Amino acid sequence: MGQRHSGAPAIMTGTPANTSPARGLHVITWGCQMNVYDSARMGDVLRPLGYQPVATPDAADMIILNTCHIRDKAAEKVFSELGRLRKIKEARETAGQQTIIAVAGCVAQAEGQEILARAPYVDIVLGPQTYHRLPEMVARAARAGGAVIETDFPAEQKFDFLPEAEAPQTAGNYTAFLTIQEGCDKFCSFCVVPYTRGAESSRPVLSVLAEARRMVESGVKDISLLGQNVNAYHGEGPDGSTWGLAQLAYELAKLPGLSRIRYMTSHPRDMDDALIAAHRDLPQLMPFLHLPVQAGSDRILRAMNRGHTADEYRDIVRRLREARPDLALSSDFIVGHPGETDEDFEATMQLVRDVGFALAYSFKYSPRPGTPAAGAGMQVPEDVKDARLQALQALLREQQDAFNATLVGKTIPVLFTSEGRKPGQIAGRSPWLQPVHVSGPKHLIGKELPVRIVERLTNSLSGVLEEECVSA
Ligand code: SAM
Ligand code: SF4
Repeated sequence: MGQRHSGAPAIMTGTPANTSPARGLHVITWGCQMNVYDSARMGDVLRPLGYQPVATPDAADMIILNTCHIRDKAAEKVFSELGRLRKIKEARETAGQQTIIAVAGCVAQAEGQEILARAPYVDIVLGPQTYHRLPEMVARAARAGGAVIETDFPAEQKFDFLPEAEAPQTAGNYTAFLTIQEGCDKFCSFCVVPYTRGAESSRPVLSVLAEARRMVESGVKDISLLGQNVNAYHGEGPDGSTWGLAQLAYELAKLPGLSRIRYMTSHPRDMDDALIAAHRDLPQLMPFLHLPVQAGSDRILRAMNRGHTADEYRDIVRRLREARPDLALSSDFIVGHPGETDEDFEATMQLVRDVGFALAYSFKYSPRPGTPAAGAGMQVPEDVKDARLQALQALLREQQDAFNATLVGKTIPVLFTSEGRKPGQIAGRSPWLQPVHVSGPKHLIGKELPVRIVERLTNSLSGVLEEECVSA
């Protein structure tokens, strides 16, 4: 959850294709883990055409901007990046090299025509549901010599048409994302997702299990199941019945070698008894749950169309903690939703004090065109939103520090995934996703080992390996 909506572009990596002659592909990703996953899958789709990842856009025959539209300035960021890419495209053209520029993701979905009007040098605009058609779009762009736009919600399910996810996503990686559900039918007042990602749909169980199995065979030990409403998962099971997320988790937990299962993002309304019981029964289900509440005032929760009250959220948390006492929570908050009073905001602060979060993401309400809240009266002034956000973030930071402090002196399992920043260090993740580093040999990377936490740093923990692990 660490990189959610960070705005920091992630560059795709991978291994070469073995089919057509090599062409460079550079993907710049904004937004959530689902976009990170989608970027990797676009690489899978383009690999048979000979596209291989390259580290810089000036070495790329094709550049994809995979965009996020969740808050404002998203489109402006895209246009400013496109301005930079235009210069690269022109310089390469002068040198006799063609470059295809594609804009993908939710900004493309919402503002496709505007992109083509303002940036006519863009060759392809594609929404999140159409990237399985990329090869055909590339061919059409080459033939037509004009822009290709595909932002419909096709009748076919893209997962049925995607090639198997290749090892590049996962090779040498011990953690992986796996999208199992997409879209949303909940229509929260503030949110663009139902409009940009379309209606809720779930991948069939067998397709998810097959992808998970391939990941585990390539060495992955920690899988994060992704979905805009992941706990609303309702995939078709092998016998034609509908499986919920809990049933899927029990099945995934049978995969030998898969020691950690996570899922995000969940909606409180879909936190059913079966899923809570799975947290009790499955040690593989990590004791860390991202369960956005957005606000603590029932009046605002109603205005947001969230479909639950603050006390119902408290009750879900209580039942989860009963089932899994070491469970820690993270959440999303929006301050300054239209109509939010000081009293409403205080109810949010009270809910935070009551629940206690290990991590949280908090945002100022940002009006999104076309959503009900954007047109509502009683917009909250920016300076009031700023002050509320600061107060909330100070409290959340305190809680995060307090949670991390509880781990100092304890021995916890750490899955080592890479070398650390300093020589002689290796780094990994705790069950609660904090980065942890220790002094240790590289051959321990890929193992899950007990670590005694000795210090809490700003955004990470430092520890020592238990004696017997060092010589292992
Ligand atoms: N499906 C998830 C849920 O129900 O909580 C959230 C998905 S949304 C992609 C991620 C987060 O972005 C939300 O939880 C919300 O806090 C934030 N967000 C969405 N729309 C927003 C807006 N218009 N202004 C500010 N934050 C927003
Ligand atoms: Fe957006 Fe609400 Fe759907 Fe989450 S549940 S994706 S916040 S509409």
